[in-house]
Amino acid sequence: MTERFPDALQVKLTKRLTFYEDIGINLFYRDRPSTSPNDASCRGAALPGPSLPGPAPHHESVFESPSEASLAANVKAPFAIPESPEETLPKTPQKSPAKPLVPQTRSVTVTSTTKSPPLPSVSPAPSSPKITILPPTPEISLFDAANKIPDDSLLKIRADLGECTRCKLHTTRNKIVFGDGNPKAQLVFVGEGPGRDEDAQGLPFVGRAGKLLTQMIEAMGLQRQDVYICNVVKCRPPENRLPEPDEIKTCSPFLMRQLDTIAPKVIVCLGACSAQTLLETTRGISHFRGQWLDFRGRKLMATYHPAYLLRNPAAKADVWKDLQKVMAELGLEVKKGKSTAAVKPS
Ligand code: URA
Repeated sequence: MTERFPDALQVKLTKRLTFYEDIGINLFYRDRPSTSPNDASCRGAALPGPSLPGPAPHHESVFESPSEASLAANVKAPFAIPESPEETLPKTPQKSPAKPLVPQTRSVTVTSTTKSPPLPSVSPAPSSPKITILPPTPEISLFDAANKIPDDSLLKIRADLGECTRCKLHTTRNKIVFGDGNPKAQLVFVGEGPGRDEDAQGLPFVGRAGKLLTQMIEAMGLQRQDVYICNVVKCRPPENRLPEPDEIKTCSPFLMRQLDTIAPKVIVCLGACSAQTLLETTRGISHFRGQWLDFRGRKLMATYHPAYLLRNPAAKADVWKDLQKVMAELGLEVKKGKSTAAVKPS
């Protein structure tokens, strides 16, 4: 005999599922087989150095949205999500949803255009012992020249960037896409580089991939203004080609300063270019996606780029799994259809 849910729960579940379908994230919680991810290297990160060997962790599992999970907890066995054997961080305990995740300061898009001198050198931040550290490419570090600057701020960084002409991308760009969001965000998303829509508006992730990123952020129980979003390069590569090594090398010190200044608890790299750049590796993203990694003493999670998900919706399950780890790390708890945010003293 088929067991029926109590009417109230049935109505709630139906509404919830309809909502997810409406906002286009139903694929996040449907049972789906994994497909081979796009493992294309970011040419910009393919600096001289060894490609790291090792098997790609492969997860064949099914997921629920947290809302569905909590609503249906009594009527459905919870899905077991297999741990990646390479994951080295202990499980984050569930935190109670007490304090708000985001401080008062909200979205800031800096638009200053003053020119300024090149960046000074300092030494890198210490890294956490519990997190996997990918060996960097030995010959070149993009970050040698991008070290902590006392009293730095997003305004200063934007001013230093100026109407940048440091690399060839300036010749074809319309607007510099500096970054957008909460300057004190606990969570920063780093993409590859602006596309056509971003180049036109001067804002990151506002095109199709950006809309999907917004849905992902909202599925986490956050708003875009709660997080900070930026890219490896701040000007659109022509024809949406990958950023080239010299462009990344020139631009990434500004990204480093942004990350140091915002000082988020978690950095999510969207796609191979971003992950390979920050981790200074040429290894394919599928080898380390979904694991906690170290970036200058901060926790970094690499996941697939939303543009990849638009072409390969089945990979959304993997991304959702990665984002759930991020949510746990940030103390985001899912309760009756919405996440409640915890942490971050202002
Ligand atoms: N893709 C990116 O990597 N960044 C954007 O800002 C938009 C699309």
